[in-house]
Amino acid sequence: MKREQMIRALEAMGGQQWDIVIIGGGATGLGVAVDAASRGFKTLLLERYDFAKGTSSRSTKLVHGGVRYLQQGNIKLVTEALHERGILRKNAPHLVKNQSFIVPNYKWWEGPYYGIGLKVYDWMSGSLGLGPSKLLSKEETLQLAPTLDAEGLRGGVLYHDGQFDDARLAINLAQTAAQCGGVLLNYCRVDGLLKAGGKIVGVEMEEEGSGKRYAIHAKAVINATGVFTDRILQLDDPASEPLIAPSQGVHIVLDKEFLPGEAAIMVPHTDDGRVLFAVPWHGKIIIGTTDTLVKEIQEEPRPLPEEIDFILRQIGRYLTKAPDRKDIRSTFAGLRPLVKSSSKRTAELSRDHLITVSDSGLITITGGKWTTYRRMAEDTVNTAIARSGLTERECKTATLSIHGADTTGATVFDTPLYYYGSDGPAIRALAGLKSGWGDLLHPRLPYIKAEIIWAAQEEWCETVEDALSRRTRALLLDAHAAIECAPAVAALLADALKKDDRWQQEQVEAFKKVAAGYLA
Ligand SMILES: Cc1cc2nc3c(=O)[nH]c(=O)nc-3n(C[C@H](O)[C@H](O)[C@H](O)COP(=O)(O)OP(=O)(O)OC[C@H]3O[C@@H](n4cnc5c(N)ncnc54)[C@H](O)[C@@H]3O)c2cc1C
Repeated sequence: MKREQMIRALEAMGGQQWDIVIIGGGATGLGVAVDAASRGFKTLLLERYDFAKGTSSRSTKLVHGGVRYLQQGNIKLVTEALHERGILRKNAPHLVKNQSFIVPNYKWWEGPYYGIGLKVYDWMSGSLGLGPSKLLSKEETLQLAPTLDAEGLRGGVLYHDGQFDDARLAINLAQTAAQCGGVLLNYCRVDGLLKAGGKIVGVEMEEEGSGKRYAIHAKAVINATGVFTDRILQLDDPASEPLIAPSQGVHIVLDKEFLPGEAAIMVPHTDDGRVLFAVPWHGKIIIGTTDTLVKEIQEEPRPLPEEIDFILRQIGRYLTKAPDRKDIRSTFAGLRPLVKSSSKRTAELSRDHLITVSDSGLITITGGKWTTYRRMAEDTVNTAIARSGLTERECKTATLSIHGADTTGATVFDTPLYYYGSDGPAIRALAGLKSGWGDLLHPRLPYIKAEIIWAAQEEWCETVEDALSRRTRALLLDAHAAIECAPAVAALLADALKKDDRWQQEQVEAFKKVAAGYLA
């Protein structure tokens, strides 16, 4: 999908009215775009930076019911998320992997306690389950996770959940929506709302590359801006009450040697009462997360030193070799768009996500999680139909394949290019087109140069940061390696996007600045 095509489609609409305009291109907005476009609505999505630049590229990468919510007794939420987990695995089998987790038991009661809890989790998954949980002996536990501290270990509980690549799914959702006729643009900031008689009739936005401004008319406007929700609400009504209380979560990334093998580890109770995951991901181990209330919302949130120390301390208790700061390949932070509990509107919080409709007709969707994005989108589009006079049309996403879904056979995870699914052969062909395009970008990274060309040609990739952070996940896997290959990536992109030397230098400098925040 080419970005220029999208700009042309936007211009071709001229002053005509869209059915639905979505502000924000994270999991929530992209999900709404897929839902709306697949129902046949004229759909436009505007993202001010890159798709998934916000929270949606900074998750723990789990498609899960949420064992923590089960501990809290939130049965409805867990059941819904487990159902969505099953749907997503069917619709995006190239991205959602069946991941086995071990809960290590060091106290006598942990085996029966977590064993029973996880049997309930299995039962709640119903026919969409990923495999039965089971109690493991000490020997079996160490066989699956040989670097677990054996001293005092009594055994473990094995269970299954889903794991995915968040930013790759975001791009595939954008492609799916575009294939259904939607228009999706990154680097388009909404900075005004159009009103007539107090009602919202559209948005004003600026396209970053050209600086061109557009007034866009729509029957329904959806605010899906995550932690930035309040800024759009204030554009609508400067007196609006803040809805979001952002909370920061941090992850660290280590080499696989700290947790070799296939299994992930789930620590059910950290010092601050949360769960901690250590999960294999693209040949590394990703460990997190924290829960720190933040006052200031930043585009590039930075991990606090004490958050990194906390994770190192917690995971260090479970591993034979405790990692320290110099072992960290990358560290990243994301902001949860939590709905304020003091908000008057929390009564409507019947689930993990919240949909509100302002007096002006602005529809806001917030909260939730990646796993439930599809359900959130369905509810949002249903609200838009009910409130904006759109023709009633049925939701199709429960059985809609997501771009890249490979129907020719089961995905072999962790093989080269597996995460492209049905696009894999085209990228392999690209790698053979020009000498060097099949080469690795960096000896410590699993990516080849052809992936950058593909990203520029087919995946709306506009910057070195897009390429290294969200089309490939280089920045999250190894920040130093990502910085080292930035000049080569800039040269490849410049070639594909027809940019000059100055652009390349500016891109490398801008990337280094962002990447510095990922070094521990
Ligand atoms: C640490 C952490 C771990 C998590 N782990 C998991 C997990 O393992 N599994 C799971 O299911 N969920 C997880 N979640 C939750 C999940 O990541 C979020 O619920 C989800 O990504 C939120 O998506 P969103 O689209 O609402 O927000 P965002 O991804 O932040 O998207 C909002 C977008 O709006 C754009 N925007 C803002 N203002 C404007 C404007 N004026 N014009 C245009 N665009 C604008 C922003 O640039 C941004 O891209 C985790 C969250 C965190 C923080």
